[in-house]
Amino acid sequence: MSSLLDPILPGRTIGIVGSGQLGRMLALCATRMGYRTHVYSPDSDSPAGQICHAETVAEYDDIDALTAFAQATDVITLEFENIPSTALELLSTFTPVFPQPDVLSTTQHRLREKTFLFENGFPVTPFMAIRSLDSLLEAVKTIGTPAVLKTAGFGYDGKGQCVIRHRDDAPSAYQAIGQAEAVLEQFVAFEKEISVIGARTPQGQFAAYTPIENQHVNHILDVSMAPAQISPAVEQQALHLTQSIMEAFQMVGVLCVEFFLTEDHRLLINELAPRPHNSGHLTIEGALTSQFEQQLRAICGLPLGRCDWVRPSAMANLLGDLWPTEGEPDWEALCRFPEIKLHLYGKKTPKPGRKMGHITALNESPLMAAQRLREARNTLTQFANVQN
Ligand code: AMP
Repeated sequence: MSSLLDPILPGRTIGIVGSGQLGRMLALCATRMGYRTHVYSPDSDSPAGQICHAETVAEYDDIDALTAFAQATDVITLEFENIPSTALELLSTFTPVFPQPDVLSTTQHRLREKTFLFENGFPVTPFMAIRSLDSLLEAVKTIGTPAVLKTAGFGYDGKGQCVIRHRDDAPSAYQAIGQAEAVLEQFVAFEKEISVIGARTPQGQFAAYTPIENQHVNHILDVSMAPAQISPAVEQQALHLTQSIMEAFQMVGVLCVEFFLTEDHRLLINELAPRPHNSGHLTIEGALTSQFEQQLRAICGLPLGRCDWVRPSAMANLLGDLWPTEGEPDWEALCRFPEIKLHLYGKKTPKPGRKMGHITALNESPLMAAQRLREARNTLTQFANVQN
């Protein structure tokens, strides 16, 4: 095996575990830069599988398939977190895997992630571990209400979450999350949600975009804007925390840190994602280097690209809710907004809450860019209403 410090150059093969839209956008970027891509996931005709040079369709516990995949690739990364860390450990005996399996093992489990952050002195939302209804009742007493109960493993986009507004709601909330191991968090009355996307190479080089401002609807990201409208002090603190977390992990790859900015101007870390993030999709058009190129450069041990914004930008998600019962949204109407860029992920079945694509706009200010996106997206909804 080559040394970790030998860069992996164009022409070599990038292994991608997981086959959703993040893998698709990484593969598009890798292809532009002359790399080959090989995707591994249990799904066929997937967003990433549709456009990769090679595809392995197999379960995450298929030792023979994992071994063959590792032997066919020069470096391996992942595009979603719910991959058994044992699979990554097996892959890493053959080929470098970034983010490292121990980073995934921590960040894929809310309780381990929050404990790691807390023990390393990072500011997190007050939380307690929940392993029984009794421990939940105790925690509700200590933390108070409202509070948010979240499963420790396998949660995303608000799945496996339940708000507890009153002590009496605790038993039904515990039922609602399947009586699984969980964390109870204080409900944060935040002024804004922001995220920072950082990248770190095996040589220890770090680069990050200044914070992105995020608006959620039903716990799912709806609109992101960059640069975030925050004070220079908050901006510096968010960047510093992101670098410090990557260093504490000695992590290689891309890390998204999601923060709450409280009404009294404190930053609390909500969540980490050791990969490109939905809030960073606007870096494709809005920044000098996209988060996917940054992921590629980091895992290949190449110097990182610049993170400057080209212009204020915004991104709006296109969820399955926008699709009419029959047919497609009116893409032609969307294209009448000449500055807006359409990204669709090749998913066949629209479902409520399912991320089918996104649109991006650059403008004089992030708010104006977001306003144009909302106007454009409304044309799709109007069409859907007519069809229904
Ligand atoms: P998560 O899956 O933890 O990122 O949560 C998704 C979204 O739910 C967040 O981006 C917030 O908008 C909201 N949320 C999650 N946890 C809390 C909390 N402790 N207090 C207030 N809002 C929250």
